[in-house]
Amino acid sequence: MEGKKGKLLLIGFGPGSEGHLTGRAREAIAESQVILGYKTYVDLVRDLLREDQVVMEAGMTEEVARAQEAIRVVLEGKTVGVISSGDAGVYGMAGLVYEVMAEKGLTSRDLEVEVIPGISAINSCASLLGAPIMHDSCTISLSDHLTPWEVIARRVDAAAQSDFVIAFYNPKSGRRTRQIEEARRILLQYRSPQTPVGLVKSAYREQQSVVVTDLEHMLEHEIGMLTTVVVGNTSTFVYDEKMVTPRGYHRKYTLDRDEQNLKLNERLKEEAEPWALHTVAKEKGETNPATTYVQSAFMSTFECMVSPGVVNKTFTPNQWITIGEVAGEKGKIQYTPHHGLLLTLSADSKPKQGVQKLREAGLLVSPTGDVVVVKACDFCDGDKKDPIPYAKELQARVSGLSVPKELRIGFNGCGMVCYGAVKEDIGIVYRRGKFDLFLGGKTAGRQAYQAQLVAEGMEPDVIVDIVENIVRTYGEEGYPGERFYKYLSRLGKIAGFSWSEPVC
Ligand code: SF4
Repeated sequence: MEGKKGKLLLIGFGPGSEGHLTGRAREAIAESQVILGYKTYVDLVRDLLREDQVVMEAGMTEEVARAQEAIRVVLEGKTVGVISSGDAGVYGMAGLVYEVMAEKGLTSRDLEVEVIPGISAINSCASLLGAPIMHDSCTISLSDHLTPWEVIARRVDAAAQSDFVIAFYNPKSGRRTRQIEEARRILLQYRSPQTPVGLVKSAYREQQSVVVTDLEHMLEHEIGMLTTVVVGNTSTFVYDEKMVTPRGYHRKYTLDRDEQNLKLNERLKEEAEPWALHTVAKEKGETNPATTYVQSAFMSTFECMVSPGVVNKTFTPNQWITIGEVAGEKGKIQYTPHHGLLLTLSADSKPKQGVQKLREAGLLVSPTGDVVVVKACDFCDGDKKDPIPYAKELQARVSGLSVPKELRIGFNGCGMVCYGAVKEDIGIVYRRGKFDLFLGGKTAGRQAYQAQLVAEGMEPDVIVDIVENIVRTYGEEGYPGERFYKYLSRLGKIAGFSWSEPVC
């Protein structure tokens, strides 16, 4: 072989729309003296071709012949562009060209080869579906033209049980109809029928169609050769008709709530990021991250707040023992400023039974997260009895209600306010047989301020109704994540009480 004879450009041109063609792919098409490709692909880039370029069109199944022909022409000294839709190296022509080169004993000394990446269907289809491949994913071609079905089925099984998001290429053709049905059957062994599924046909081309469905119903929709089927993992959900796969698996849940948002500072913790494998491996003394992945990926935790009561502040020794037993070795018990203990349990430690045990021990168990928290004083160890029933009634009615952002209600039994009710989002102070109401404390920050007195001397029989009304109004009208004082600042009033932000 005499030196380099020419140049072979393996061009992935993406989904087929000009806007999604890379700059280098465009240059490479222009640089090519000969363009070689499957007829449909040539049609997709025809607007970019010049009259002086030789265009060699081939049939779909003539891929080996295409690769051989491309190399033959390159060895004549020409620059040849072999075009593939998507990425030339993903089910494209790149591998085949190298195989032919290997067969013929050709190397980079004989011809220059450049693989030009393009947007593969998994990416273009994912972009139309929302964000389904935010996590570990794989592509599986269901075509058994070149791969035995047993091998494909094994891969589907492995991907399904490993909880990969899966993009199925070549799901169906005129002759091949059962593969996608079989793949779905395998998936249903590991994933719920409600697992989101996206069907994208001809992404970014004129005949584009996008369907978001689920495993149960996917076969009711048209699936063909030009469809890419994207199956979500066990965390994928549909929001605003888009598929979204969260970045992490670490899930918190609480009483009566399957899912609880991670706070910002929790989201970025390593245990919330499934790719933070080194930490898990390190903790377990394991050196192979692959062995720890599944354990870390499916980690979820249950959280609840435990206290001896809204008024009572004293735990009995038996209650401590119960809390310790429920927490077990894996659980975490954290003291909080909310007059309670934050109990964190791993999902495999049967939290439901644990909660029942805590309640049987006379403990108050409340949800955590963006909920209403009622913090009463101890009413001088129960001596100041009159307001206690109202504190208990309020706790029973509103504690644990979902709100845009955690809302603390301080309830103190006299004007001493020694438990700081007026520093909370809502403060209730019992004084001379009546109640004073404070709203909108800014509870944190260097410019924190106390809640404003909005009503004095309210009759006891109305206080619980009024506060419940305030809480529910905020719950319905507050923006997600909007703190109570911000809500008041935005609207200036709530349930008939006016409020204005203090000048600090
Ligand atoms: S706020 Fe008043 S009633 Fe409550 S504990 Fe303090 S002194 Fe006692």
